[in-house]
Amino acid sequence: MTTVDLPLLPLGRGSDRLSERGVECPGDLPAVSDPDLVARARAAKAALGDRVFVLGHHYQRDEVIQFADVTGDSFKLARDAAARPDAEYVVFCGVHFMAESADILTGPQQQVVLPDLAAGCSMADMARLAQVEDAWDALVDAGVAEQVVPVTYMNSSADIKAFCGRNGGAVCTSSNADVALEWAFEQRGPGTKVLFLPDQHLGRNTAVLKMGMSLDDCVVWNPHLPGGGLTVEQLRDARMVLWKGHCSVHGRFTADVVDRVREEVPGVTVLVHPECTHDVVTRADLVGSTEFIIKTVEAAEPGTAWAIGTELNLVKRLAAAHPDKRVVFLDKTVCYCSTMNRIDLPHLVWALESLVAGTVVNRIQVDADTEHWAKVALQRMLDLPGRSHRD
Ligand code: SF4
Repeated sequence: MTTVDLPLLPLGRGSDRLSERGVECPGDLPAVSDPDLVARARAAKAALGDRVFVLGHHYQRDEVIQFADVTGDSFKLARDAAARPDAEYVVFCGVHFMAESADILTGPQQQVVLPDLAAGCSMADMARLAQVEDAWDALVDAGVAEQVVPVTYMNSSADIKAFCGRNGGAVCTSSNADVALEWAFEQRGPGTKVLFLPDQHLGRNTAVLKMGMSLDDCVVWNPHLPGGGLTVEQLRDARMVLWKGHCSVHGRFTADVVDRVREEVPGVTVLVHPECTHDVVTRADLVGSTEFIIKTVEAAEPGTAWAIGTELNLVKRLAAAHPDKRVVFLDKTVCYCSTMNRIDLPHLVWALESLVAGTVVNRIQVDADTEHWAKVALQRMLDLPGRSHRD
């Protein structure tokens, strides 16, 4: 009998990432996993008891989120994990940068596990440390680096957070980006500039809509062009240097779909995440983080209609949880976050059963120096005046 190589490693065993091609994006969720896996996940979790703490990001699939001890956005989850120092293992059902943040904020006795190492984030991957260091060198050459404060969105790798920590900058989330920018602009006097990483849309939307800047105050640094595609004069004149990064999910909403949903759903309120483009955000009625979106829909009157511009797993759960309101996805053609969806039940079962067997798989561990400086940048965010820290 001949064996056939499967295109997927159903239980995540092995390390051949090339054979795990990721979740297709067919416009609907992949098929529900084998129902036996539910019983296996339950049994493994019960066997581990309080030794394991399972975190589920809002964008995770239903089959995974049902096993989460807490749900939330990335920063809330990292803090939740830190508040459970008794949990030996933290299984992070989310993406890589989130697991890194959890490792940074949890104690050395805790081990953070990401059930599928291929669960990255396209936005975080758009800012590599070497690229950011090149940009910083260009700012030095332009004679402006001393006026620049780097601020990175939570959705960035640990080494980018550490870069910000080392260079007098901070981390921000989508709900405190304005407070973080206010803080940053106070750091270097009247000529202060901010290098905002890695999401150009969050940076632009915050600068223009919350800080009263104009679009002309912002320039975009393209890491794939010499000198970022900017002249020295542009760097000197800019107040915001936006990194050319974006979320592949939120970046796909267009202004047209906002207009269309208003025609199709009478009285609809359009509520979008600030990772959406400036065009979309300026056409929407409300803009806010995932936590803001959830709370707004929860507090809405029965009979109201909502078009939500964020990841589809969350929108579907909101619609199911609020049958007395009409909750629609802003754009029928937008996919789920494919990397978030890499965490499926088979991978979760594999991670949990491995822990039961005494093997820690897919541990995410940030080196001590990176952790130190990333913590400095995170602490500067925590020290910002009064605002909940949600992304
Ligand atoms: S939704 Fe966007 S920002 Fe969030 S993990 Fe997916 S690609 Fe990254």
